[in-house]
Amino acid sequence: MPRDLTDAPFDRPAFDVVVIGGGPAGATAAEDLARAGRRVAFLDRGGRIKPCGGAVPPRLLRDFAIPDEQVVARVCTARMISPSGARVDIPIENGFVGMVDRGPFDAFLRARAEAAGAVRLRGAFRKLERDEAGLRILWRDAQGERATSARLVVGADGARSDVARQEVPGGDAIPYVIAYHEVIAAPAATGAYDPGRCDVIYDGRISPDFYGWVFPHGGQASVGMGTGVRGVDLKAATAALRAGAGLAGCETIRREGAPIPLKPLPRWDNGRDVVLAGDAAGVVAPSSGEGIYYAMIGGRCAAQAAEATLASGRARDLRLARKLFMREHRTVFRVLRMMQDTWYRSDERRERFVSLCRDVDVQRLTFEAYMNKRLVRARPAAHLRIMAKNIAHLARLIPAAS
Ligand SMILES: Cc1cc2nc3c(=O)[nH]c(=O)nc-3n(C[C@H](O)[C@H](O)[C@H](O)COP(=O)(O)OP(=O)(O)OC[C@H]3O[C@@H](n4cnc5c(N)ncnc54)[C@H](O)[C@@H]3O)c2cc1C
Repeated sequence: MPRDLTDAPFDRPAFDVVVIGGGPAGATAAEDLARAGRRVAFLDRGGRIKPCGGAVPPRLLRDFAIPDEQVVARVCTARMISPSGARVDIPIENGFVGMVDRGPFDAFLRARAEAAGAVRLRGAFRKLERDEAGLRILWRDAQGERATSARLVVGADGARSDVARQEVPGGDAIPYVIAYHEVIAAPAATGAYDPGRCDVIYDGRISPDFYGWVFPHGGQASVGMGTGVRGVDLKAATAALRAGAGLAGCETIRREGAPIPLKPLPRWDNGRDVVLAGDAAGVVAPSSGEGIYYAMIGGRCAAQAAEATLASGRARDLRLARKLFMREHRTVFRVLRMMQDTWYRSDERRERFVSLCRDVDVQRLTFEAYMNKRLVRARPAAHLRIMAKNIAHLARLIPAAS
């Protein structure tokens, strides 16, 4: 049971840091701060499994010491499917893409944060209040209104974050796509369905501006799509995807959707006592919609910034969170943004994009960037050749499906 913290004295706030949200970003921030010896709590409302395809790169499993039993499927081939139905199978060399189920995965991260010393609070965040005595966090649970005090707050409450909206300029206006998926009972492995392969469908009939997917999860599979275009019927698009993939007859276990933010905020802190992490800061990779790894890194950067601020007493040290993150990931985000803007615009472009994926160097560079989160600079000749091919496709010097 969480302590009732309503009467914590203000001269010594109950916590150094309260983290709002206990998803990948919040649980990571809370764990890191607890390990650093800080008095930290995380508040999560619980009650809902985060809708998510659950695909994670090996770098995440390594960097965050995720135990094998959390990985419910290991994907060794990625199949790209074009509007005309052309298929390019990309073997995933030197590793696999891991699939996690967000119910047990998030529960594991929260339990690990608690084991490290973070206090878990259950309830729904309402707002922050300040007076001469300090910062109060107000939330609600089944018993009613609650409050506690802290020196700093990490806002990790996901896409369309209340903390971002209330505290950080621009936090109420992060652009997003809506992603929708159906969790289905996986069929037996057949020619159409392979439990070791993920399918990525680039087809304007499934998504006019993003993509559709079939991700295996052991006994289940996630089938879905995303779009930022208003008026698209997500359920009809997913039904079409399932029919095309031979999955229409499988039992549907859950239907769910959620926003995916599309653009990191220009500021992640309020210059005073709040710093954001993960979806709350708008941090999901363009092109792929990959957010779990970046949420965990964001949580880690927010914890470092909070730690620096607590040690120095300087609110400007909160800016460190964005700085640390961008130093490492800015270039990959830029390249992925360019890819999305260039190749997801029309079926003709999508056809050309899938065709480009036949190139072994494109495959190697793309997957190296995804798996290990770095751009490889080692092969300048390959880069030049890929660039020339890109230009030839964009200038329509070669046929779309070549
Ligand atoms: C359909 C779909 C498929 C996706 N597929 C993938 C994929 O395959 N791979 C990938 O890497 N990413 C994927 N993503 C993106 C990924 O799910 C997110 O980027 C990631 O979950 C962000 O983590 P987070 O901790 O920032 O936020 P979240 O995971 O959203 O966690 C936020 C937490 O805050 C809590 N919370 C929210 N509001 C409050 C409140 N007011 N009070 C208290 N608690 C609150 C919630 O309960 C939740 O636990 C997908 C997203 C969607 C929607």
